[in-house]
Amino acid sequence: MLKETLKLYPSWDIEKTAIPQRSRLYHLEPIGIGTPYVESLTGYVQRLAHEHCVTVRRLTITEIAPLMGKEAKLQDESISKVFGTGRDRTAFNGTGFMATNLVGAMSALTRRLDLHYLTLLPWAQVISKRGLLRRHRAWCPKCYQEWHDNHTSVYEPLLWSINTAQVCPYHHQPLQEQCPHCHQQQLTISGDSRTGHCNKCGKWLGNNRHKTVFTSLIKSEAERNRQLNIVNNLGELVAVTPTLNSPPNLQKVSNTISSYILQVFKSSIPAFSRQSGMNKATIGLWCKGKVIPQIDNLLVLTHYLEISLLDLLTTDLLLTDSKNSSLSPKLNVVKQPRKSYKHLDLERKQVLNVVLTEVLKEYPAPSLEYVALRLRYRPLVLQYHFPSLCESIKIRHAEYRKVSKQQKIQPILEAALKEFPPPSLLSINRRLGYKNNSYLYRYFSELSREISKRYKEYQKASGQEKRERICQEIIDIAQLLHETGHKPTQARVTQLLTKPGVMLSWYAKKTLRDVQNSLGYE
Ligand SMILES: [Zn+2]
Ligand SMILES: [Zn+2]
Repeated sequence: MLKETLKLYPSWDIEKTAIPQRSRLYHLEPIGIGTPYVESLTGYVQRLAHEHCVTVRRLTITEIAPLMGKEAKLQDESISKVFGTGRDRTAFNGTGFMATNLVGAMSALTRRLDLHYLTLLPWAQVISKRGLLRRHRAWCPKCYQEWHDNHTSVYEPLLWSINTAQVCPYHHQPLQEQCPHCHQQQLTISGDSRTGHCNKCGKWLGNNRHKTVFTSLIKSEAERNRQLNIVNNLGELVAVTPTLNSPPNLQKVSNTISSYILQVFKSSIPAFSRQSGMNKATIGLWCKGKVIPQIDNLLVLTHYLEISLLDLLTTDLLLTDSKNSSLSPKLNVVKQPRKSYKHLDLERKQVLNVVLTEVLKEYPAPSLEYVALRLRYRPLVLQYHFPSLCESIKIRHAEYRKVSKQQKIQPILEAALKEFPPPSLLSINRRLGYKNNSYLYRYFSELSREISKRYKEYQKASGQEKRERICQEIIDIAQLLHETGHKPTQARVTQLLTKPGVMLSWYAKKTLRDVQNSLGYE
């Protein structure tokens, strides 16, 4: 063979390449990190179990428990030794030790480093555990149904487990806590949990058109907006978690609040408390950085300051914001009068005169304030131009209020006459919000007297009955002592009484003396 025909091939590298360590379970990617609808940790555990075609119970007992140091205790098939009983389980999505523990175990199993974003752990320093998470599983049926219909992953957002989040930010309807099929509430996670299905009856929780059960109906538009504002604030908070440079710091939050009070309220916590409607002591503790604020209080504060929860917890916004220059945000929102006070043209005046005369025939009689609101004038303007008509409206309304109040009270008093044990008149007054009996005696003298009489008779009868019971007990004890060869002295009888204190009363002493005499003692 000629030398030129030989070809030199590159040699093989037979060194073993380093294979990165495999994860024990699937390296399942969490859904929605960096968005308001990021998945919850308990939801992730359920989804992971499903991906491995095992129940949450099996996954917990065989894989999670050993990593949480709970293996030895698991003889039975219950997961409560690992996950705790009942409402404890909600804490897995929270800010405390339980969340840290489960994040650790799940990270070890999946080799994922982002699982703490599925909890509120990053906010542990600035949001208190108290009242943070709801005790039961909650969901938006429409979200479930939409994901199902669009063939996207069905999962449980972290937002649903936060107590103050009451509505779905996308469908604007209340989150549900009660299964529409079996009407039961469920734990955040249980051995039989399956995403989108009831833990108890196993049925689908998505919106099956007619079967939705509304546990809480949000009645007014204002309330709905408030709820949406809250849920958006919370959504923003969980969405930015992965982008935080450092965990939010309690000292910084307390400095922000105390500087704000210093600048706007000259350091007067009571003044700030009055304006914001928040508890004075709570604000004081916040300013000192001694307590971690509760989420509901934080939301009240942000609502008052008209800033987002995220801004309050992470920025110095308050110190540079224009609000510093004004006294209070609430003071600025007083609406300007809608129409001029001074002038009213003749034609308009005639129209108003007719309208106000008509108002005098209305039933129920409206208040002057309500009439003014309807006509879009200030009450003062109407009073200025139509003094006598306005006076009549006021008198009619006062009379109407008095009568309707009495109409409401009458059935309450009649019901009280049937109550047992009979209530005192004073307790009825307290229920109705009065401090003493005078109003009821004045307008409902007969009923009031009957109530008082019934109460007194019952008190008397029950007192008599009680006395008889005590005397009988004394007689029984004295006889027993006598039969066993002991003299029934006051000290011995007292010792054996169910309520020894009754021996101090005159009738108890008299009874004992009588028994002693009848048994032949001096
Ligand atoms: Zn929804
Ligand atoms: Zn059910």
